[in-house]
Amino acid sequence: MALTGVLRPGHTQIRVLDIEQSVDFYTNILGLVQTGRDASGRVYMKTCDERDHHSIILKKADRPGTDFYGMKVLDRKTLDMLDSDLRAYGIATERVPTGDLLATGERVRFEVPTGHLFELYAEKEEIGDTLGYVNPDVIIEDRKGISPIRLDHWQIHGKDLDGSRNLFVDVLGFNVTERILAEDGATDMAVWMTCSNKAHDVAFVRDERSDTSHHAAFLVESWEKLLYAADLLAKKRARIDIGPLRHGITRGTTIYFFDPSGNRLETFCGGYNFYPDMKPYTWTFDEIGSAVFYHTRELNERFLTVVT
Ligand code: FE
Repeated sequence: MALTGVLRPGHTQIRVLDIEQSVDFYTNILGLVQTGRDASGRVYMKTCDERDHHSIILKKADRPGTDFYGMKVLDRKTLDMLDSDLRAYGIATERVPTGDLLATGERVRFEVPTGHLFELYAEKEEIGDTLGYVNPDVIIEDRKGISPIRLDHWQIHGKDLDGSRNLFVDVLGFNVTERILAEDGATDMAVWMTCSNKAHDVAFVRDERSDTSHHAAFLVESWEKLLYAADLLAKKRARIDIGPLRHGITRGTTIYFFDPSGNRLETFCGGYNFYPDMKPYTWTFDEIGSAVFYHTRELNERFLTVVT
């Protein structure tokens, strides 16, 4: 088996100001499926196509943002191995017991140099995508709203980009797929990284505001579905940040918007397949506009400044 170790972004806990308003947005507009609610009032959701119990956890708080970023690893043995690799690298880890999150096994939690709380886990209840595993049909019916098919990636910001990049490469087995260089032509201003063969699973951006989130992204199946997402967001008077448009980086198509609490979300489509023998793409500082917004070649202020 070629894909081992860290498999993918598996869940993320998002802070929201009003739970019921957020549940309405995340189920009826974004189109996630609600799968549980725990004793502390957290609401669990997944996309229609994801098999594991949840990928999004909404937690009531007095400010927006992201509490932690969970990545699924292949199995229990991998979890223990990565825990000891992290400690050997000088990263303190903590075990969060089974049952702290609904339907989820023990997690290994640690803070990365950019200040974000990450966690690894091997076990989560598989509830399926309703199609079954024997002679499955190809369409899931009764999909609501935008209805993405998976939690795809995160873009997160912090000061010690080099530290987080090195940790993800040296310990967690990620590859850098693309980077934007700072004006000096040598320092990474931003890096896109994958643990799989996606164009990215996580992107780090150098920013004085450590432990901040720029967006969580969900994959949709086609450009047409992305346009539908834009139409629906506009019809529902959701706050669109920018798009639909194409990135130079990853070649993906995208639309960015905010949930009712001000957390930026993205629906993303496309991107190339990455293999570990591929060299990363490098974008120079003078081409940053086309790297991010390929058609207009200009960044907008809100996209650069708003993080939660
Ligand atoms: Fe993104």
